[in-house]
Amino acid sequence: MNKGLLSVDEALSQMLAQARPVAEIEEVPTLEATGRVLARPQRSTIDVPPLDNSAMDGYAVRIADGLKLRVAQKIMAGSVGKPLEPGTAARIFTGAPLPRGADAVVMQEDTSVDGEQVTIKRAPARDQWIRRTASDIAKGAEILPAGKRLLPQDTGLAASVGMRTLPVYRKLRLGLFFTGDELVMPGEPLAPGRIYNSNRFTLRGLTEVFGCDLRDYGIVPDSLDATRAVLRKAAAECDGVVTSGGVSVGDADYVKPAVEAEGQLLMWRIAMKPGRPLAFGDVGKAFFIGLPGNPVSSFVTFLIFVRPFLLKAQGMTDIGPRAIAARADFDWPEPDARREFLRAKWNPQGGLELYHTQDSAVLTSTAWADGLIDNPGGHAIRKGDNVRFLPYAELLR
Ligand code: AMP
Ligand code: MG
Repeated sequence: MNKGLLSVDEALSQMLAQARPVAEIEEVPTLEATGRVLARPQRSTIDVPPLDNSAMDGYAVRIADGLKLRVAQKIMAGSVGKPLEPGTAARIFTGAPLPRGADAVVMQEDTSVDGEQVTIKRAPARDQWIRRTASDIAKGAEILPAGKRLLPQDTGLAASVGMRTLPVYRKLRLGLFFTGDELVMPGEPLAPGRIYNSNRFTLRGLTEVFGCDLRDYGIVPDSLDATRAVLRKAAAECDGVVTSGGVSVGDADYVKPAVEAEGQLLMWRIAMKPGRPLAFGDVGKAFFIGLPGNPVSSFVTFLIFVRPFLLKAQGMTDIGPRAIAARADFDWPEPDARREFLRAKWNPQGGLELYHTQDSAVLTSTAWADGLIDNPGGHAIRKGDNVRFLPYAELLR
């Protein structure tokens, strides 16, 4: 239990120290592996390209034979030609294997053809328009590192060397629930005092972005018994549980006592804005992260804390996020004493602008923005200053 405010970095490093990668590895079809985290480095078992081949539609020639040649054969992609006879050229197409004896390919635009005779307009250079065996990938070379979340181009690369399946970490099973007697779902009547459970949408979407196997336990009323029961169930069924709301110290905040009763809890008040309270602990074998209920706070604290935790727990090695330096096109003369995550957007001049209010109750700011400016506590910003920007493109991957 920490009574003072904890820094973002301290809280994050304490959390990450507890994040253990999923142990189980499964072999999945390469066709379905995009988005999964590779569990072992992959080496090619073949050379790419496997044979010397043509990079152009044109003629394969032996340079020493001169510029006037008889076209003696035609080699299409997928077929193999005969060795080049002296004084001849081979009509060749992109990707087709180079015939033995050829040392250059002349593109068809640089030739003229008269019956069986081809005339080359410009003397070719040795090796021109030839893709040499293994010039892209040598047999045995590592093509993909362990711990990478596979992008479409990665599974394409794996397929290009013939990999039919890939070893990936089992998906992390993540339980979510949302505390609050005031919450209703869109479609239900909004009685006075009620609010829509927007966090369910934001947090579910985030767990999908990060490739978790989601279990959604829905809305949990503000009672200790109800909170304990769903917590016990979720922790037994999942690798980890993330919740929203109920982590303040109000009368209706049952997350803290529920986790303390079922497991262990660290309650932090973090020196950041938005998002002060954060709960971290474990229940049985599952980790537990309790986010504040305020929608802007839960979004931001998810990106800053839950995101890296989930990535590490999924077996990823590069968890970033990479910030970029960007120009502030605004003044921010009265910063908070806490580290701020300001909702900002690119303007057409390539600078950043702030949403007109940084009130943490305004969810509109998160949808309007292109990312978050990570501003040190107490740091005023002057127009033209460089700021540390965390684009959503980095935070949401
Ligand atoms: P709490 O952390 O439970 O005290 O909630 C803080 C604020 O966030 C209150 O105004 C809640 O009504 C609101 N809130 C809590 N949970 C949600 C939710 N799931 N969706 C939208 N707003 C919420
Ligand atoms: Mg509440």
